[in-house]
Amino acid sequence: MEQLVDNDTERKEILKRYRNLLKAYKSPLSKGDKRLIRLAFNMALEAHREMRRKSGEPYIYHPIAVAQITAEEIGLGTTSIVAALLHDVVEDTDITLEDIERTFGKKISSIIDGLTKISGVFDQNSTSLQAENFRKMLLTLSDDVRVILIKLADRLHNMRTLESMSREKQLKIASETNYLYAPLAHRLGLYVIKTELEDLALKYTEPEIYKTIARKLEQTRKDRTKFINEFSEPIKESLGKNGFRFEIKGRPKSIYSIWNKMKKQDVPFEEIYDLFAIRIIIDTAEEKEKSDCWKVYSIVTDFYHPNPDRLRDWISIPKANGYESLHTTVMGPGGKWVEVQIRSKRMDEIAEKGYAAHWKYKDTANAGNENALDEWLHKIREMLENPDANALDFIDDFKLNLFAEEIFVFTPKGEIKTLPVNSTCLDFAFEIHSALGTRCIGAKVNHKLVPLSYKLQSGDQIEIITSAKQNPREEWLGFIVTAKAKSKIKAALKEEKRKTAEEGKNIIEKLFRQHKISFNKGNINEILSCYRIPSSMDLFYRIAIGAIDLKNLEDFNTSGGQIKIKVQKKDEHASLEQLVKEIRGTSGSLVIGDNLNKINYQLSECCTPIAGDDVFGFITDNEGILIHRVNCPKAIQLMSNFSFRIVKAKWTSQKEIIFLAGIRITGLDNMGVVNNITKIISSELKVNIRSINIESNDGMFEGTIMLFVHDTEHLNKLIRKLTALKGILTVSRIDNN
Ligand code: MN
Repeated sequence: MEQLVDNDTERKEILKRYRNLLKAYKSPLSKGDKRLIRLAFNMALEAHREMRRKSGEPYIYHPIAVAQITAEEIGLGTTSIVAALLHDVVEDTDITLEDIERTFGKKISSIIDGLTKISGVFDQNSTSLQAENFRKMLLTLSDDVRVILIKLADRLHNMRTLESMSREKQLKIASETNYLYAPLAHRLGLYVIKTELEDLALKYTEPEIYKTIARKLEQTRKDRTKFINEFSEPIKESLGKNGFRFEIKGRPKSIYSIWNKMKKQDVPFEEIYDLFAIRIIIDTAEEKEKSDCWKVYSIVTDFYHPNPDRLRDWISIPKANGYESLHTTVMGPGGKWVEVQIRSKRMDEIAEKGYAAHWKYKDTANAGNENALDEWLHKIREMLENPDANALDFIDDFKLNLFAEEIFVFTPKGEIKTLPVNSTCLDFAFEIHSALGTRCIGAKVNHKLVPLSYKLQSGDQIEIITSAKQNPREEWLGFIVTAKAKSKIKAALKEEKRKTAEEGKNIIEKLFRQHKISFNKGNINEILSCYRIPSSMDLFYRIAIGAIDLKNLEDFNTSGGQIKIKVQKKDEHASLEQLVKEIRGTSGSLVIGDNLNKINYQLSECCTPIAGDDVFGFITDNEGILIHRVNCPKAIQLMSNFSFRIVKAKWTSQKEIIFLAGIRITGLDNMGVVNNITKIISSELKVNIRSINIESNDGMFEGTIMLFVHDTEHLNKLIRKLTALKGILTVSRIDNN
């Protein structure tokens, strides 16, 4: 080993790489900075002296490369370069944090501490541990964003050198990259790094697809270049005449994004028309960039017609991650739509390297709420600090928000707020303040009254209406979008339940006093086991809402301050968990119409399931099990939010049960048609009608018929018969009441 490291060519190579790193630094290095970097390099070199990477190369190549990415591709300064060089020493060598603090000071040692804590984060196999660690990682993000930036550089270099890893490791590392690191890079505005991470992840997870697309991109490059030149020619000339200093690039889309488009639109490579975007970067003073970008827009559209629906102005209102640019899609030569991105050099730098590069680090204090990144970090901190948030829920909620497209809306005073697309009035209320969210009963959007769940559009102005009587509700979780609102509502619901449970506790205490029973753990446990309830909090809650009635303790022997179960309660009082276990345990699913297991169920009124429908059971708190159709809109919400309450359900083959179902009929209003309808239903098919309601209008009629059928087969037969009638236009089952 010793000899290998001291090998002359290798030492030369190490020094060469080190000098390259120094060159990557943009502004000239001060003497002090140079000394610090040299010190860090020497320490890392010495510490990793006997270590090698999987590829067989000296280990020091890795920290040098990470430092290089940190400087060159993210644009960070000396502190980060030093931390990057030392990022693996505390974890992998004998050097301690104290050693680092002694030589480099508190700041650098705290960054390395953060890096050490989150490294190995994903070595655990348990998902919840990963989630907890991801949360930790984001916490450090709000301490010092450089920790995350260096971590991203570390991950990027590991992805670039993934070749030498085992297949199993490649897959694991690549999917984590896709799951967490790429979204994080995206959210921080590090577009170039995000794109490379995604492409590399695809290369290892779907090597065949990656290779095919890369090959096709290469094959079509010549044609593309020709097209781009032809397209740019008149614009270049005009920009020159107008005295602009500029650069025009034709940038191919990433392999990953092309693959995503192919999947989404279900088309082959050949049919993806926007394989590239044209980017015009102008060199102009900061105070003139906005008007200059619009001048360029005007020049571009002198030659090509813009699509008015595709104009995106992120100069007047930058994205939350700091992205600024003016996008338009114009009709190019040969009838092809071409996306044109117009921006200044400064904007381009932010777009490529992220806001972080412009993030000013002050040793003294936080810069305050000066910019969007700051605001974002503030939001993350708020979410993380919520002690009730479950780590796995958190990570899912959070990830949704990482990828979401944004809309911007206004407060009544005209203040602008950015929200993820599909946000509702309630999200907006929580965005302003959680106290506003929890009391929200509705809103006025553009002066019109709308419900809480109303989906906002860019440009909406929202006034929240509150009531002191309002409390957060479980169903809110079904339409809320932002992670912040979600975690606040969940915490509030939990708190609400705790308060209600308090009332239940008072009821028991009073009851115990009447019967001279001491309120202690043993006696409470006796009740818990009688009703098969897992925790005293659950018991108190159920008593408070009336789901359990202790009936003056008549099921218990009470003497000497103690209670003992007289009769073990039957299934009807079994707890939720017990119920689920029983159903899942015996047959694996609930059999509807089977009287053998006496489980209390009802058909849900919102989607009126009938035998033969795809259904599932939802275990409610008070009404037993509700049967929903799988395609019920409510079901999707239930399944995603309360999967633990869902049980499989299927129908028995018995035919004697009947179900209520509804059909909607439209047709031409001529005499006799209604007569024919009822004739078919009641006499021919012998179906009982419960109600029939037909309205005519301008020679057309529309009707709703509620009737009793045995199963889907029965209903479909009826629908087919009715459709065949003369004068009938449509017959459809009513999916939702
Ligand atoms: Mn590393």
